[in-house]
Parts: sequence; C-alpha cells; structure tokens
Amino acid sequence: MTITLANREFDISKFTRRDFLSNSLRASVGLLGTGSVLSALGCATRRPSLVPRPTRRVLADLHCHSVINDWNRQTPLGLRFPALVWLAEKFFNRTGMEWEDCHRAGVDVICVAHFNVFDEWLSMPTDPNPEAPVNTFRMMDQLQEQLSGPARPYATLAKNATMLQKLTSIPKTSADYRIAVVHTVEGGHALGGSIDPLEQLARRGVAMLDVTHFFSKDIASAANSYPFFPDGNNRRPHLGLSEFGRDVIHEMERLGMIVDVTHATATAIDDIIKVATRPLAVSHASSRTLSEHPYAVYDDQVQQIVSDGGIMGVIIDPYLLGNYTTASLAEKEGSLRDVVRQVLHLVKVCGTHKHVGIGSDFSGYIGAPRDMNRISQIHRLSNMLESEFGNSDVVEDIMANNAMEFLKTNWKTGV
Ligand SMILES: [Zn+2]
Repeated sequence: MTITLANREFDISKFTRRDFLSNSLRASVGLLGTGSVLSALGCATRRPSLVPRPTRRVLADLHCHSVINDWNRQTPLGLRFPALVWLAEKFFNRTGMEWEDCHRAGVDVICVAHFNVFDEWLSMPTDPNPEAPVNTFRMMDQLQEQLSGPARPYATLAKNATMLQKLTSIPKTSADYRIAVVHTVEGGHALGGSIDPLEQLARRGVAMLDVTHFFSKDIASAANSYPFFPDGNNRRPHLGLSEFGRDVIHEMERLGMIVDVTHATATAIDDIIKVATRPLAVSHASSRTLSEHPYAVYDDQVQQIVSDGGIMGVIIDPYLLGNYTTASLAEKEGSLRDVVRQVLHLVKVCGTHKHVGIGSDFSGYIGAPRDMNRISQIHRLSNMLESEFGNSDVVEDIMANNAMEFLKTNWKTGV
C-alpha cells in the first residue's frame, strides 16, 4: 500500500532499515543509569488501585503515550528481537495506563502523543527521515484500530473539538460514557523535513504538535532533558527557532493546529512566543524555579504563554520536577509531592489556576513517582491537591477543566 506525500510515494508496508543495534545499546546504557533493575521490577509489579467511577471531572491528560509499547512491538527491531522490546518495556517503562482502568477511574480526556523513536534518535540513513510522516500516520491508525477494537467499550476518538465537547458532555453514570481520545504528535521530526504533511495531520484531527523533542532537527533547539540523549544541536541551545521552524509554526496556525513548545530551549521558546499569533501549549513540563533543568520553563515565559491564553501542563516525572541530582535518586525519593509543589508554584506565578493542567507523559519511558505509576491512580494526586487548595472546584479545573477548555477553544483541525 502506498501513500503520497510531498509529491513522493511511500510504501507504508515496509520500513527503512536503521542502524538499530548500536544506538539501542547506547540508549539502553543511558536508561539503565536511571535506576536499578530491582527498583524497575518493584515498580512493574505494583498494581493499580481503583476508585469507583466518579461523576465529576477527573483528568484531561495533555500528554500520554498510550500506544507506544504496541508500536514498538511491531517495528523492525521489535519483530526481530521481541525479547529486547519486552525487556525495555518491563524495565524501563515505569509508568503506564490501561483503558479499562482509566475508564473505571472516570478519566475524561487523554491526548495521545505519537512518537516513533526510530524516526528521531536512532541514527537515520537520512535525517530528517522522509518516511517519518508515514510512520506517524501508521501510529495514528494503530491507535484507531485499538479504539475500534479492544478499547471500544472504554474510549472513543474525538476527531475534532465539537466531538470532544459532545463526548465530554456524556455523564459518567451513563452506559455511553467513554474517555475522549485526542491525537497529538511529539516532535517535529515526524514531518520528515517538510511542512506538507501538516495538512494531512490536520485533516486527521491532530490537535497539537510538539515542534521539537530530544533533538533539534533544524526546527527549534531542543533542551537536553536527559544527559544520555546527546545531540550536537542541544549543545547550542541558543540557536532558537530555525527558518523552517518558523514556516512550521505559520502553517500549523493556518491549519488550526496547536503549537506545543515542550522540549524547546528557553531561546527557542522566546522565538516561538514572538512568532506565534495563537495560544501556545506547554503540554508536559515544569517551572525552572523549582527544577533547574534546561527542559523546565522559566516563570516569565510561563506568564507570557498563559497571559496569551495558553496552557501549562505539569509532567508527572520527579526528575524533571525537582532538583534531584540523578534520575535514579528522583525515582527513589520523588513523589506526587513534587507535582503538587509545581502546581502550587505555577498557580502563584500565573496569578490564576485557570491555565494550569496536567500532562502526565505516562507510558513514555519516564521515571515514576514512588506513589503513582498508573493513570488510573490519578485520584491520589487530586486528593493531595484538594488538601492544599481546600476547594474541589479549583482542583477539578486543574485536573481537567482547564485543559478541556483550552482544547475546545484552540483546536481547529479535524473534519
Ligand atoms: Zn516529551
């Protein structure tokens, strides 16, 4: 089966061979550094604890990698070495989500981030990889197959903002209640070096695209989020937004796709703020005041983004929320307290709670807080926020309403 993009035909039934092994080994060494195998095992055996399905808003997650494992399993590496992918999942993917459990917990919205590791940080025969858009469409197909198959009783794809509105209006006590699922893309590498795929992504309802990720890819300089992802470009964080990056943002705005600035360096975020004419999202990050990482966003940038109608989603990864010296220490000591601290700080900095939300990044091979490793355990976070704010309406806004409102107002793609 072939698909036409940028006047080129791609065979989507086959993948380009990559230099998988040497790079996988390098990445594995890095990931091993994030924690001990025993702690990974301990985490993997934790069971989700569920609460009865609530009637209030529970969570609109701005960033979650719900299908990454399924995707990895059917890549050339996964098909050739299934044990390797199984091991990676078992030991390195410390967080996760299950549709049925999330449905039972009353989750409202999940923005699924499509990300193909092979198109970004494993060596490419060509970079950018021209087949990356095709792989992205395949990931979207895979999610949709899941939603019309085993996940059908629990979740439904919201193809546009109107559908999101309809789905989230169904009371959770109704048999028709489903989690609303939204397509998003993580990393402009998915465009394969051209703005042309944006039109098709928009038609298929991609609400939001994170313009940069671990590597700059000549779009916007990428912050070094983990020391073991070295990129020539992120050693030059002041490159900011490239000319191609500017074209990407203009085209996204024309199509009504939300620009996500997570992973961009401070210089690139400044550049994007200057170029953007529509509200921006920081889907899954933290404030640099509490977390001295290049990945975290400066408070004045958060203030600018929210005063322009944007949203700040807080990631649930202690390493990126606090000042832990190593990722393994963050995993040992980090907890939902780190998330609460960030939320409180951001509400103060923004002068309102109305632009703060949650972007868990769960199932995205991040480090887990020691008291939560499943999305269905999200009530643990809301309970902690309730005791801080003493106001369940404020907590409901932060957990869900703010993100939902942001999406309903700014998401213009889809048919
Ligand atoms: Zn990310």
